[in-house]
Amino acid sequence: MEGDREEGKSFKDLGLCEQLLEACDRMNWKYPSKIQAEAIPHALEGKDLIGLALTGSGKTGAFALPILQSLLDSPQPFFACVLSPTRELAIQIAEQFEALGAGIGVKCAVLVGGVDMVQQSINLAKRPHIIVGTPGRLVDHLSNTKGFSLRTLKYLVLDEADRLLNEEFEKSIDEILKFIPRERRTYLFSATMTSKVKKLQRACLRNPVKIEAASKYSTVDTLKQQYCFIPAKYKECYLVYILNEMSGCTSMVFTRTCDATRFLALMLRHLGHRAIPISGKMSQSKRLGALNQFKAGECNILIGTDVASRGLDIASVDMVINYDIPTNVKLRSWFCVAVLSIT
Ligand code: AMP
Repeated sequence: MEGDREEGKSFKDLGLCEQLLEACDRMNWKYPSKIQAEAIPHALEGKDLIGLALTGSGKTGAFALPILQSLLDSPQPFFACVLSPTRELAIQIAEQFEALGAGIGVKCAVLVGGVDMVQQSINLAKRPHIIVGTPGRLVDHLSNTKGFSLRTLKYLVLDEADRLLNEEFEKSIDEILKFIPRERRTYLFSATMTSKVKKLQRACLRNPVKIEAASKYSTVDTLKQQYCFIPAKYKECYLVYILNEMSGCTSMVFTRTCDATRFLALMLRHLGHRAIPISGKMSQSKRLGALNQFKAGECNILIGTDVASRGLDIASVDMVINYDIPTNVKLRSWFCVAVLSIT
């Protein structure tokens, strides 16, 4: 974040109110990041935004802070809705809203699949200010949960918008757009500007300000990238060799299939490594459990499929290994400190 900061600007210069300045201070955010410095003043002026920003750029703060400021000005339940393509990212976003809003009594509800809908409905009955969710589960609640509506919504945020606009989510997003007012602010954050993002820009944004906080496909300066070109039959062997060599490090290993995550984790465990798999085939509680064990340092090797690869904010990862060639190279390396691609 340090290298990413906007020189010379403080959070106060961006026009944030005292309570939110205190919130940034509590988070130990000393200076706004580039995306925050560029996005927040426009957002506070009431503009729609398209932010091109990588994970780790502080983009959550870039949309959460102006939303919270606006909420302070005119408090109401169901004020903002943030959509994310993955459950883990949704939870992470809600945690940031809650942390930033702790001093001002902000209530959040997380609506993601894989967990009990009833508990989520109970949370909705408490009339939270901010809803963070994955599209499918939000549609479920909008259609089936009595008393829940987003008719008075003021802000819609699509995080990881390039992925949300994939076919996978198209129907749900279209449904959601029918349930919410056209008169609202819309923020769209994406790592890439695909033609789909451009399409949605026409559909729901009004004169958006486009902010680019990082050049396309860039990686952080400290990232060392290497690849290892070896016969496929030796891949496992090389993986173990590299992990042995880097045994004191925290590593993430990405595979193409869920089965491979389980297989590699089992193999590495048998060899004495503290490895844990995470994939879409696991229950939501297991996925979160795996992530928490990795974040807490109980396991130092997380082996995941795409489900774990987008937008995760894990404080320190020393090495990332793409065990299979990533389907989307541009996205995969952005949050890495080191990439080793084994082909
Ligand atoms: P994000 O890109 O929103 O996922 O944020 C990545 C990480 O950066 C999170 O752990 C945030 O708490 C942290 N962060 C966000 N804004 C700042 C800031 N201005 N200064 C320091 N850390 C920040």
